Amino acid sequence: MSDPNLPSLSPEILAAQELARLRFSYDEETQFRTDYESSAIGARMTLFGLGIAMIGLTPLYDQFLLRIPESFLGFSRAMQFGVEIPALIFAAVMTWSPRLRHWSGPSTILAMMLVAMGLSFQQVVGPAHGFHVPHDFAALAIASTCLMGRLRLIYLMPWAVPLMLIVSIMQLHGQSYSSGAFYDVISTWMMFTMAGIVAYHLEFSARESWRQRRRLEEQAAHDALTGLPNRRYFDTMFVHLIRQAARERKNIALMILDVDHFKNYNDRYGHPAGDDCLRRVGHWLKDAMRRPQDFCARIGGEEFAAVWFDAQVAAGPSLAEKVRCGISELGIPHAASPTSAVVSASGGLVQLACPSQEDASTEIATDLILRADRALYQAKRSGRDRLVNADDPKLGMPHWPPI
Ligand code: GH3
Ligand code: MG
Ligand code: MG
Repeated sequence: MSDPNLPSLSPEILAAQELARLRFSYDEETQFRTDYESSAIGARMTLFGLGIAMIGLTPLYDQFLLRIPESFLGFSRAMQFGVEIPALIFAAVMTWSPRLRHWSGPSTILAMMLVAMGLSFQQVVGPAHGFHVPHDFAALAIASTCLMGRLRLIYLMPWAVPLMLIVSIMQLHGQSYSSGAFYDVISTWMMFTMAGIVAYHLEFSARESWRQRRRLEEQAAHDALTGLPNRRYFDTMFVHLIRQAARERKNIALMILDVDHFKNYNDRYGHPAGDDCLRRVGHWLKDAMRRPQDFCARIGGEEFAAVWFDAQVAAGPSLAEKVRCGISELGIPHAASPTSAVVSASGGLVQLACPSQEDASTEIATDLILRADRALYQAKRSGRDRLVNADDPKLGMPHWPPI
């Protein structure tokens, strides 16, 4: 158990430790694995292509350069064309096909094992026929999987290390445990260790740049003052949610909120206090959006948006009113407001019931924002600190889709 008297580690140190251990916290790790797997396809396909080409070309140099004995030829070809190349083709198909791709990692490991074992068997059987297969071929197959397979190290090593041990024992056995054989084994382990170290650094850098990219993406989508999603995020997410609503036949509700007499607030209490007030409003909004697909954003200076997914049309106005009233309930004094003793906000609400797949989502989004804005304008004109529903028949606003 950790000692409560010890100071807790800073987020930077924790992040550095996670990187060094090649493991993020649960949510980040899940996302990283998905992204890392899809970024591995090119490297793995190159690995399989190279393997197939190198093994497939052996008949050429066996014939013209090495003059492989006839008695060994059958066994050697059976290993190369019956085991090693089919294993590589199998792994390539698993990696290339989007439907089978989730088997790419296991099939890469299987291919590494079959190729390494095939080469080791040839090395063990070869001397009886007066032919020596180079001692480091099997280790080369394992080392190149470490370098080009883009498999997470924690996942690869439990297979690669025992495989190296088996290959080494076969190598020693094939060379009758001679001192030369021990030298060969040591050199293959050196190659494997170096490949392992490089593979560690490759995964470390992949994780580091993945995390940096994610942080930058998050920064670009969030507002620095309140930490809420910004206008850019809102525009993208809103269209995305409308598409989802159309697919799933669900409702969407949007409220645009604007803090009342905020210029007066700044003039009275100063800009830093104004910033603090916006931060508190932002926190309240964030807490108020309870369900995972609901979200809020800061879409302008003192303007916010709240979006509810799958809210019943009848419940929309009361949901929105609760959130809007919550701002007054924060009790932030506003002595310079002619309409309220505390900071309040006006809201414009618009709802969309079950959009159809044919409706263009960007067009609907623009229309909804426009209608919510008009309702907000009405709320301001009719005295502020209130919610106006765009669907209120008294306003006479057109509905979506336009008739
Ligand atoms: P209304 O009730 O009609 O909305 O009046 P208002 O004063 O709130 O509206 P107006 O558009 O006249 O003024 C908005 C003010 O919000 C002006 C601007 O200085 C302030 N503001 C915008 N962004 C920020 C910010 O990030 N921090 C602070 N402190 N003030 C901001
Ligand atoms: Mg405004
Ligand atoms: Mg305002």
